Amino acid sequence: MAMLDIINLRTYFPSPDGLVKAVDEVDLQIESNEKLGLIGETGCGKTVLGMSIIRLLLPSTRIMGRIIYKGKNLLDLNSEEMRLLRGREIAMILQNPTTSLNPVLKVGDQIAEVLRLHMGLDKEQAKAKAVEMLAATMIPEARMRADQYPHELSGGMKERVMIAMGLAGQPSFVIADEPTKGLDAKTKAEIVKLIRDMTANRSMLMITHDLAAAGDICDRIAVMYAGELLEVATAGAILRDPCHPYTQGFVHCLPSQGLQPIPGSSPSLIDPPLGCRFHPRCPRAMDICKKEHPPMIKMNKGNFARCFLCT
Ligand code: SF4
Repeated sequence: MAMLDIINLRTYFPSPDGLVKAVDEVDLQIESNEKLGLIGETGCGKTVLGMSIIRLLLPSTRIMGRIIYKGKNLLDLNSEEMRLLRGREIAMILQNPTTSLNPVLKVGDQIAEVLRLHMGLDKEQAKAKAVEMLAATMIPEARMRADQYPHELSGGMKERVMIAMGLAGQPSFVIADEPTKGLDAKTKAEIVKLIRDMTANRSMLMITHDLAAAGDICDRIAVMYAGELLEVATAGAILRDPCHPYTQGFVHCLPSQGLQPIPGSSPSLIDPPLGCRFHPRCPRAMDICKKEHPPMIKMNKGNFARCFLCT
């Protein structure tokens, strides 16, 4: 049985313009110790998918389907049961440390708070362990840094603090949301290595628009577009032999492939195109693509793609 089994997940929320179908009929499994990268352009629904798992969404959001974690449907848990599970069993490394960290609390105290809440440590023990956690993220002069406020740290150091906070409760499953966003190339390479090392014995969903980072860290990659999955395959298959034209376009955006952007922009999540949602931007679109919604097709070696050309 998969550690996490997402079945027909639909996450919709109301807006003044209509119902936003941010996650639409998504099926996805993540095995024990597996790292799965979820990639896609901004606004495709990938962060909402992560937030749906950990149930950090506005009360007006409608979440339907099943999210089975270690045999339990998370959507059946009440808010107190979810609160106990969050951070201890499933943790999220939130994107954008500058806005996610509390600006008026020392970073060591922010990590210690997680340790007190989830590991039952007293104040002194939690403070000492927070320094250990910071040192484990290879932050220089961890003891001194623990006594600093977020604005005193560089972007790379703040990301290390976020990772330490996310892993402080020793969760079995980690959701990392854009952990390499906004970092320079050298810092990004260090953070990629750190994530790889610190999540070695955990399962992870890594949400990112950075295909190269996902390829460096993840076993499999799922490609999301306009609320639905278009391709799910091993990282090697996605990077070297993608089947779906959108994934092919994403690969061509890599610096090593000449940075060729995908023409056009993502469609509305309120009223996505009929047929294949990618057809207005697809260089290989056929008549059928405008009329029929392609199903997810199983290809060789357990890889899947939602395109009439992938059989
Ligand atoms: Fe392109 Fe058609 Fe495949 Fe969609 S189904 S990706 S429009 S070829």
